[in-house]
Order: sequence, then C-alpha cells, then structure tokens
Amino acid sequence: MKTHTNHFPRPPVLFCDFDGTITTSDNIVAIMKHFNPPGCEAIVNDIINESKSIKQGVGEMFALLPSSMKEEITSFVLNQATIRPGFTQLLEWCKLHEVPFYVTSGGIDFFLYPILAPFEIPTDHIYCNGSDFNGTNINILWPHPCDEQCEHGECGMCKTAVIRQYPENEYFRILIGDSITDFAGAKIVDLVFSRSYLTEKCIELGLPHIPFETFHDVVHHLEQGGKKS
Ligand SMILES: [Mg+2]
Ligand SMILES: [Zn+2]
Repeated sequence: MKTHTNHFPRPPVLFCDFDGTITTSDNIVAIMKHFNPPGCEAIVNDIINESKSIKQGVGEMFALLPSSMKEEITSFVLNQATIRPGFTQLLEWCKLHEVPFYVTSGGIDFFLYPILAPFEIPTDHIYCNGSDFNGTNINILWPHPCDEQCEHGECGMCKTAVIRQYPENEYFRILIGDSITDFAGAKIVDLVFSRSYLTEKCIELGLPHIPFETFHDVVHHLEQGGKKS
C-alpha cells in the first residue's frame, strides 16, 4: 500500500495553500475587485510593497465591507471559484499512502469551508482565518497566530507554526502554494510545489522546488518521491 512513499527519505506530509492553489484564482483578490470598497486599492498596494502585513491589510480590507453583505459576498465567491484540476486525485493519493494532508490558508472560513465541503477533508486538517459578521462591518478573526519561533510575527494564519507541528528530522515536509502567504513556509520545508510568485521566490532564494500547473503534476512527482522527473 505505502510503496510509493518509500521513495522519500522520511514520511511525507503535505501543507497546501488554498487561494490561487486549490482554487485557480485568489478569492480575496476576487472579492475586493468585484465589490471594490473605497480605500481598498491603497491597502492592496501597501500589502504588495510590504509596508503593511498580510494580517493587517486583510483585516482592514474586510472592515471596509458591511456585515449585511455576507450572503452576497459568499454566493459571489462560491459562483466564481474553480478548483484546480487533479485536486480529488491528490487527496486520493494521500489517503491511499496514509500521507497527512493539511490545508494551510490565509483565506477566510466563510468561503473556504463551503468550497471544500465536497472533498471531505477533516475539519482539524483545515487551517484558515475566521470571520465575525455580528458588527456593522466584517471583522476578520485570527485563531492561528504566529508562535514564538516565527520570525515573521504578523502572518495572520501562521503556516510555519502549523508546519513545525511535524518535526523536520522526522518528516519530509512538502508545501504547495503560489504566492506571498507561502513565502515563510517555503523557507522551512524539504520541498515546494510552486506556482506564480512562489516559483520566482524559490528561484531567488535557491529553495528546492518543482513548478506545477495541475495537481495531476503534483501526484506524478509524489509518485517519483518528489524528484524532478
Ligand atoms: Mg495563495
Ligand atoms: Zn507566522
């Protein structure tokens, strides 16, 4: 049963980003582009040029939207989100080989859980930010903060803290991602499956990575023990 995972030096564990990775585009970006609350563009620019942390920026952007728009925003996201091909096959591969699979996301619970519902991923294997719609405007909650070992400190949902639950000398830690929320995690894992900005970052920092387009590609490389073949 577990023959393929013998190719790895240690048992593999997967940490997979959500926005722009499991879904083909970033849902927070899509929400802000579509509803475009006044002031949102300046915050986006501050996040991109790193004068504002992701946590602060995302919190501020959602605070521009009234809680009364919850249904409208949720149905917008659910209608436009597309799952990247091969995701079901990746989950099946993990199940077959008893490889732990975690969703590690800087996204928000109110759209993330409904989109992932058909895939039957255990809830305790999904890490994301929370939301509170009881106030006048949307309030983002941060149930998974940075630990004292995170040099970043303002992740929002701290991917490195989740990854550190699996010690590096016992597990072959693999991150799958595409962008800025994955940069810190990419630096501490054994292998990165990368797309987009994350590929550029891995090249810049000389991190072991395999660029991918679909999760079929990821499964193919996992079958080879994470080698570039
Ligand atoms: Mg992403
Ligand atoms: Zn952190």
